[in-house]
Amino acid sequence: MQTLQEEVSIEMRKRRTFAIISHPDAGKTTLTEKLLLFGGAIREAGSVKGRKANRHATSDWMEIEKQRGISVTSTVLQFTYRDCHINILDTPGHEDFSEDTYRTLTAADSVVMLIDAAKGVEPQTIKLFEVCRMRGIPIFTFMNKLDRQGKEPLDLLEELENILGIRSCPMNWPIGMGSDFKGVFNRQEQCLERYVGRNEKPEKIAVSDVEDAHLTELLGEQAHEKLQEDILLLDIAGDPFDFDRVRAGQLTPVFFGSAIANFGVETFLNQFIDLAPLPGPRQTDQGQMDPVTTPFSGFVFKIQANMNPAHRDRVAFIRICTGKFERGMNVHHVRTGKKTSLSQPQQFFAQDRAIVETAYPGDIIGIFDPGTFQIGDTLCEKGNFQFEKLPLFSPEHFARVTVKDTMKHKQFHKGLEQLAQEGAVQVFRIANRTEDIVLGAVGQLQFEVFEHRLQAEYGAKVELYRLPYQFARWIAESDLASLYYDRSSCLTVKDLHDRYVMLFPDEYSLRFVTDKNPEVVFHPTSYGL
Ligand code: GDP
Repeated sequence: MQTLQEEVSIEMRKRRTFAIISHPDAGKTTLTEKLLLFGGAIREAGSVKGRKANRHATSDWMEIEKQRGISVTSTVLQFTYRDCHINILDTPGHEDFSEDTYRTLTAADSVVMLIDAAKGVEPQTIKLFEVCRMRGIPIFTFMNKLDRQGKEPLDLLEELENILGIRSCPMNWPIGMGSDFKGVFNRQEQCLERYVGRNEKPEKIAVSDVEDAHLTELLGEQAHEKLQEDILLLDIAGDPFDFDRVRAGQLTPVFFGSAIANFGVETFLNQFIDLAPLPGPRQTDQGQMDPVTTPFSGFVFKIQANMNPAHRDRVAFIRICTGKFERGMNVHHVRTGKKTSLSQPQQFFAQDRAIVETAYPGDIIGIFDPGTFQIGDTLCEKGNFQFEKLPLFSPEHFARVTVKDTMKHKQFHKGLEQLAQEGAVQVFRIANRTEDIVLGAVGQLQFEVFEHRLQAEYGAKVELYRLPYQFARWIAESDLASLYYDRSSCLTVKDLHDRYVMLFPDEYSLRFVTDKNPEVVFHPTSYGL
């Protein structure tokens, strides 16, 4: 008879929980769709795409989504492949880029960084990469769109190193590009994966090594010579594959392919499953908790309001970190010290919500939230520990907010508090002027959502005045007195936990103040404060 721990151990080993980070248009939707197809989660190509385009028509998300035709939510897609349970955390991009996008990464065990080979490393990728680096999560890179002319592969690797500061290890190497694209050389298996056309299964041809004369026949003399040179260079000057360095987030395995042509995606998925980390122990205020031996625990990384406006419900998304989850179980809500029953858990398959009976470390479940949960809350079956608090990330947009109708003051403050707890926006108070409230957002759309929800849910109409700041840096209170800075351009505020934060209008003033105060640490997140 299997013990509970054996069961958890077996199930946990099947979990791969990751997020795809990329700049808009790099091909994330396309890649996700292809991955889902391998798992048999969707039958027709185009389903994810369709979801993207029609979402506002078929779902009952909040009004603002309908108006804008975009999604404010990030979903979790789950599918089974090779007996593994794959959980893909969707990280919203485009205009719906928000702090949620960052926070979602705290629920992932690894990340797939998708790069458009023609564009290289782009701004949104850099921001998301920084968050991954902060947590030291393993990063796997997929260089996409090889079916089109792009940058030289070696230049792309150089960008990874120079812009992101991460060393790379190509697992396969492209032969040609665009109309000349012939496929990739698989360095692990020493074989050619020949590109035979869009959505055609690549032809896999085993060779003795890259010098095999058979490759000349297959690729032509010129292409084979170039391939030999490239591989030789990688063998001599490149980093060898090192599992420990990958796990520590210091080395990224790189795969080349084309999502739209479904080329290189299957090989990528197979190798990713072999190499990607399983859900591991997580840090709490009482030390690390082992996923197998610790009874059920997890933390709230996202709260989604108004999944169904008819019911005014909120769903708290919980990342399971340890033990076995069972529907209806009573758990300890550590922050409030209360017991709570997890009675309507939902899991998110490709398109639908389904009630979940059991779940294991690595899984994400959505719990109906009557308004008791906050971002970062820990739930546990036994014990009284708290997972690391989710940090606040530097907003890039700031606005002062005032309520239009002073009679609605109470509703305004209630809404402000709840929306801040939910993580919809960040709320700051100008130091010494407690009535002056400044909102911070990572994405512009957060303000619109905030304004809309305050009115729709709390009946408070507000006015926002944009402020000219772009960066926030957390600083210790003890550093404040001696801080040298220009008061006419920077603003000192306090966050909801009374930590001091300085707002800067541009990179120049940020650099100026940092240089003038070399002894002060300016934290880009509230992490560790
Ligand atoms: P997202 O914004 O990252 O989700 O990107 P999409 O998946 O929507 O793709 C953006 C555009 O790039 C679409 O027009 C896709 O058809 C196209 N695309 C995606 N992958 C590839 C690829 O491998 N090759 C080429 N040529 N185009 C691609």
